[in-house]
Amino acid sequence: MINVTKTFFPPIAEYTAQVQRAYDNEWLTNRGELVRELEDKLTKYLQLEESKILITNNGTIPIQIALKLLGNGGEVITTPFSYVATTAAVVWENCTPVFVDIHPEFLTIDETKIEAAITSKTTCILATHVFGNPCNIEEIERIAKKHNLKVIYDAAHSFAVQYKGKSVFEYGDVSTCSFHATKLFHTGEGGAVFCKDPELWHQIYYSHNFGHNGPTDFFGLGINGKISELQAAMGLAVFPYMNEILAGREKIVDYYNNHLDFEKVTKMRLREGTDWNYSYYPVIFNSEEALLKVQKKLNDLEIFPRRYFYPSLNTVNFVDYNEMKISESVSSRILCLPLYFGLEEGNIELIVNTIIKI
Ligand SMILES: *Cc1c(COP(=O)(O)O)cnc(C)c1O
Repeated sequence: MINVTKTFFPPIAEYTAQVQRAYDNEWLTNRGELVRELEDKLTKYLQLEESKILITNNGTIPIQIALKLLGNGGEVITTPFSYVATTAAVVWENCTPVFVDIHPEFLTIDETKIEAAITSKTTCILATHVFGNPCNIEEIERIAKKHNLKVIYDAAHSFAVQYKGKSVFEYGDVSTCSFHATKLFHTGEGGAVFCKDPELWHQIYYSHNFGHNGPTDFFGLGINGKISELQAAMGLAVFPYMNEILAGREKIVDYYNNHLDFEKVTKMRLREGTDWNYSYYPVIFNSEEALLKVQKKLNDLEIFPRRYFYPSLNTVNFVDYNEMKISESVSSRILCLPLYFGLEEGNIELIVNTIIKI
């Protein structure tokens, strides 16, 4: 069976060696040695200059914390083309999602339509660098400054992406990532938040630890967003393989790029200035019918691509429906092809040939 992705498992001896450290320290959570070491390693690997990292127990809680601190229960301008966590976090934090349609080629929020959606209640823009493809960061920053809005990037797919020579996590007031098992770099469950402003970083920091300022004093309201030593152990065991994983994925992406028929399917257009991470391989069909045919044929061969992202998030039952023509159309026609470290060339050939035949 071939799925859209496959979790990378480091050699078990290397994982248990990391877990052994937690045993030796008799320390399982509350920012132990392993969590702090992983943060240091990631800071260097990602070449963070201005932003500080805080790793968390998943990739959703940092979006919620950012919205709690910056959203103020107001309207949040957001993309309908993302994983459901993006929209759910907005609603969960008692903010109102205001969808703005996406660009048909980049698949990120269409920045030219943002200003028309701003009202006196708007507090934030929450945009996703979908499939690791950066939004139009400069333009979003300009709009946010002009209207005094905060910018949160859901960069769950963007581990190791560089934009204009620096980590994509350096952009926006807050940027978040997911280290879920299906993501490029993982800790089983996990995530991270990145922030340049020391004061805001501190608010995020205490928010993720119940608001504590020592055992009996509190800075303010908080929740539990802490990652454990056991998760950090997995991260530390996966970490040394990241360059190999990225190189392996690049080869598969090259194969798809060289062998698919781009008269019949369209691929996402990468934004200029992006050093991409080969995180997903989405293809857009001419019709949903064509997609379903290909999906059926591949499923018969025990190959399971995924309909990322379907449905368009403006259509889910916990938001008010507002038509988003492009997102709804793209969502119904887009399929992510299998892409993971260790996917064999014979299988990639089979996938490509099956699609071409149909
Ligand atoms: C995976 C994902 C998340 C959520 O991350 P978790 O670590 O699973 O909580 C949020 N946004 C996007 C776009 C994602 O793909």
